[in-house]
Amino acid sequence: MPRARTPFVAGRLWLDFVNTDEAPRHGQPDALVSFDGYLAWLEAAGLLDATRRAALQRRALEQPASATAALHEARRIRSALRPLAERGRHAAERITQTAVLEINRVLGRSTGVRRVEHDARDGSFSRAFLPVGDAFAALVIPVVESAADTLVTGELARVRRCAGEPACPRVFLDTSRSARRRWCDMASCGNRAKAARHRVTARTRRAKG
Ligand SMILES: [Zn+2]
Repeated sequence: MPRARTPFVAGRLWLDFVNTDEAPRHGQPDALVSFDGYLAWLEAAGLLDATRRAALQRRALEQPASATAALHEARRIRSALRPLAERGRHAAERITQTAVLEINRVLGRSTGVRRVEHDARDGSFSRAFLPVGDAFAALVIPVVESAADTLVTGELARVRRCAGEPACPRVFLDTSRSARRRWCDMASCGNRAKAARHRVTARTRRAKG
């Protein structure tokens, strides 16, 4: 079974979803290259448990055309959301319109049952949405809901692309108090930038001394 490789560092589900397209830059397969890969990502995101994933995998073998259609739709949504995430509030109207259109396409057909679930292991409660109808097409609903939330709460002003070099494509939500977060992840891009600055300083010092 493929495992999702994209880290979850973006702070919002839809931004982590957009970031799944960076894997090929690291010589790894895109999470959305196959329906199995898509399921693996959804499980890593906590949207599916192993049992439901296995059931969906079996069903995909019986209905390969619907599985492929759901995968293609996920990719189309991702490519509509990336330019919006990269430009945030400054996105051109055309980009925003396309993203909203894709969001509404999914929201418009999402019918299901809302319920509260109780986890007896830790005593916690959570809201759940159980879609009725096409189980494959419904998989993307939480991603799209997350994007819709960002739009209606005005959070889009805090969405940006990583300043990491060489050109890191990851997008993230800046939740820092100063609103000056520059990197997707301190452990990777943040440290690389720090090391690069250090090299420049050392070189300048050598040149001066
Ligand atoms: Zn980065």
